[in-house]
Amino acid sequence: MSPQRFESLLVAPDTSLLQAMSRLDATAQGVLLVVDASRRLLRTITDGDLRRATLAGASPRAALGSLPGGPAQTVGLGASMHDVLQLMDARRIDHVPVLDDDGRVVDLVTRRELSRRTYLSAPHLGDDEASLVREAFESNWIAPLGPHVDAFERELADYVGVGHAAATSSGTAALHLGLRLLGVGPGDAVLCSSLTFVASANPIRQLGAVPVFVDSEPEGWSMSPEALRTALSQLGAEGLRPKAAVVVNLYGQSARMDELIPLLDEAGVPMLEDAAESLGATLGGRASGSFGRLALFSFNGNKIITTSGGGMLVGEDPGLIAHARKLSTQAREPARHYEHVEDGYNYRLSNVLAGIGRGQLRVLDQRVRRRREIFAFYARELAAVQGLRWMVEPQGHVGTRWLSAFTLDLPEASRRRDALLDFLERHNVEARPVWKPMHLQPLYAGSRYFPHAPGEDVSRALFEGGVCLPSGSNMDDTQLAHVCELLLRGLQLVAGGSR
Ligand SMILES: *Cc1c(COP(=O)(O)O)cnc(C)c1O
Repeated sequence: MSPQRFESLLVAPDTSLLQAMSRLDATAQGVLLVVDASRRLLRTITDGDLRRATLAGASPRAALGSLPGGPAQTVGLGASMHDVLQLMDARRIDHVPVLDDDGRVVDLVTRRELSRRTYLSAPHLGDDEASLVREAFESNWIAPLGPHVDAFERELADYVGVGHAAATSSGTAALHLGLRLLGVGPGDAVLCSSLTFVASANPIRQLGAVPVFVDSEPEGWSMSPEALRTALSQLGAEGLRPKAAVVVNLYGQSARMDELIPLLDEAGVPMLEDAAESLGATLGGRASGSFGRLALFSFNGNKIITTSGGGMLVGEDPGLIAHARKLSTQAREPARHYEHVEDGYNYRLSNVLAGIGRGQLRVLDQRVRRRREIFAFYARELAAVQGLRWMVEPQGHVGTRWLSAFTLDLPEASRRRDALLDFLERHNVEARPVWKPMHLQPLYAGSRYFPHAPGEDVSRALFEGGVCLPSGSNMDDTQLAHVCELLLRGLQLVAGGSR
């Protein structure tokens, strides 16, 4: 429901039954909200109320305020969707007005909305996945190795334009292997983007190394070249050379590799490119995931394509990728018996899941187009909203808009962000805060952190005011329009300062 449509549901108590009927007809929500001059809710009026009043002999000229009936069932701004649904079921009603602390009506939840959830980023299968999986079944390649794994590796490497790829059971597993292959071990310092999912940092710690977190740049949100320069020169001055740098491509867009790579090269620090969120993006025409000495992708359920769970480590060095395959299959030596020299893992992708991955890869470009379209829709519909700043796609970048994300550029941003997320959740729409930076996580308390500029903590600000919107490629235009209308109303509500 758009802000205008919501306003048109509000009527004064001196409205006549006749006027109310025609307003109900025009607004088609099945309910009107009778409010006093300061928008305090007096009662609700449904079709049924009007019918009953007419049958009981009320004049069409009678005022709504004179009709019998108790106060409306309402909830406060703290109510969740489940609270609302419970109230609807208990009272057999289909509409629940939401009141602020002063009793003013600020929102209305309808049962229709609650029947269909809008997800942040749901899996979206194409036409070929089922038959590719069936192929695996029919050929009995259910083992963790098989023809789909080899083909998926080759097809993904071709898509990204890199020489070699090793399929893994998750993106996190690929990250862990990548760090191992770059020689990261106990006591090593490893640079890492702070604004990311925790999986980017955990393998560093699990290898006994020490993460050093680097801030974001304010436009594209990935690693700040300024912060990296400061980090490298500060660590250099202390005689510390980081063993590797985990550079994360955030929300479907490459980091500023053109500026980051020369800095890392000069310092002799190899890059592990965390492209878990950026498959399908390019920078200067080059695919995301082709910049690092090694790079990884994720095929988790919410990523742009999915195998339900899976990952891939890619790179130009055939020795490194062959070593990754060995480590991911328990590091078995080439011998008839089980011979082990190195410490290995069970990290290989199964042949069944690789079949799904091959089908998904065939529709990847369509998925990218749809996600970009969704972003363009949001940006157009919300263009007039003050205090809202989208993640920027810098010159030369073509991202996937895996998640459409903005920050609230308003005072007390985090309170407003939470109120907006509560509002959306009450309407059965899944949105999320931007990643909470690693340097603010209790797990990484005490870790070193290099901000974008002295006293300017960009990733913290992005977290505090940041919102990721539903962006799944299988959202239809009706859902998208619904989310936009909710956003217009929700943003108005939270920008006004009422809670
Ligand atoms: C999803 C994700 C990962 C982890 O991938 P999994 O397949 O879930 O293990 C790593 N880094 C980033 C930035 C991610 O978004």
